Order: sequence, then structure tokens, then C-alpha cells
Amino acid sequence: MKKIEEYVRSIPDFPEPGIIFRDITSVLQDAEGLQLAINSMQEFLKDVDVDVIAGTESRGFIFGVPIAYNLHKPFVPIRKKGKLPCETVSASYDLEYGSATIEMHKDSIKPGQKVAIVDDLIATGGTIEAAIKLVEELGGEVVKVIFLMELAGLHGRERLKGYDVESVICYE
Ligand code: IMP
Repeated sequence: MKKIEEYVRSIPDFPEPGIIFRDITSVLQDAEGLQLAINSMQEFLKDVDVDVIAGTESRGFIFGVPIAYNLHKPFVPIRKKGKLPCETVSASYDLEYGSATIEMHKDSIKPGQKVAIVDDLIATGGTIEAAIKLVEELGGEVVKVIFLMELAGLHGRERLKGYDVESVICYE
């Protein structure tokens, strides 16, 4: 059986020179790769008391929804600014050039609910730091943060000190 890292395609110099892009389309388009990815991420929730799975747009949706479905839990999307139709809370974070804003519906998490946040990859950790802020603003408790991939050289994990952070594949 192939290991999960063998399904990830690494593209040098994308989207710009010097960056190695870790592409998950090669994982998704293989039935075994897809199962392995979902199962490996879900495994981190095996003994965890969780009420809600939240995922960040858009690749966090791809992995978060099947995990929520398998565990028979609700899924909450954390979306880019301007996409959610009802009342929202929002948080901004810095990108290499400029900034980005993500939002959640105010009624998507009830105070005291235990939340696991899912995304495909942690780089600097900025996206997930903002996502955690939103969940906590709504009164949720972040009990796990799960990634398929971690770019350890960018030290995103250090930004998430105090949270239970897991990744399936770690690139140095
Ligand atoms: P961060 O906020 O710096 O941790 O960046 C994480 C976000 O950037 C995630 O939502 C990823 O989807 C995206 N991202 C950054 N680098 C890559 C990559 O090499 N492959 C896939 N997604 C990436």
C-alpha cells in the first residue's frame, strides 16, 4: 500500500519562484489516496469529545465535510469575506502581500461547543490563527486543529501554542 505522502504532488516554483507547492489534487483524484487522507485526519479525533467540525475555505471543506459526515457531526464553513448571507463575525490576517478576511455565521457555533478545525495545510499559521479567533469569539472551545500537511520550516505551529495541533504529513 502506498503511503499518503506518495500521493501528494510537489510543484516547484508555483505560484512563484522559490515556492514548492504541495498539490492535493493528486491525492483527491486517487480513490485510495482520498480514503487514506480522510481516514488519517479523522484518526486524530478517535478519542476526542467534539461537537462540531469547522473547515476553512476552500480545501478545509474538502477534508472537513467527510470527517463530519463520518462522525455524524455538523460541519461549519469558515468562508472568505462576503460569501455568507447572514450575520457574521470576521477576522483579518496578514498575507505575504496585503491581508485577507474570513467570516463565520454568528449562529454557527453555540457557546461551549467543542470544535475541531480542519484545513489542508499549515504554512505560517495565519489562516488558522484567525479561524481560532472566530470560533472563540462565538464561544466555541477549539479542542483540535487538524491538517493534512505542515510546512514545519515556516513555524506555523509556534503561532498556535496552547492548541492541540496535528498534521498527517510534515515537510521540513
Ligand atoms: P498560512 O495561513 O500561511 O498557514 O497558509 C495556509 C493556507 O495557504 C492554507 O489554507 C493552504 O490551503 C494555503 N497554502 C499555502 N501553501 C500551500 C501549498 O503548498 N499547498 C496547498 N496550499 C497551500
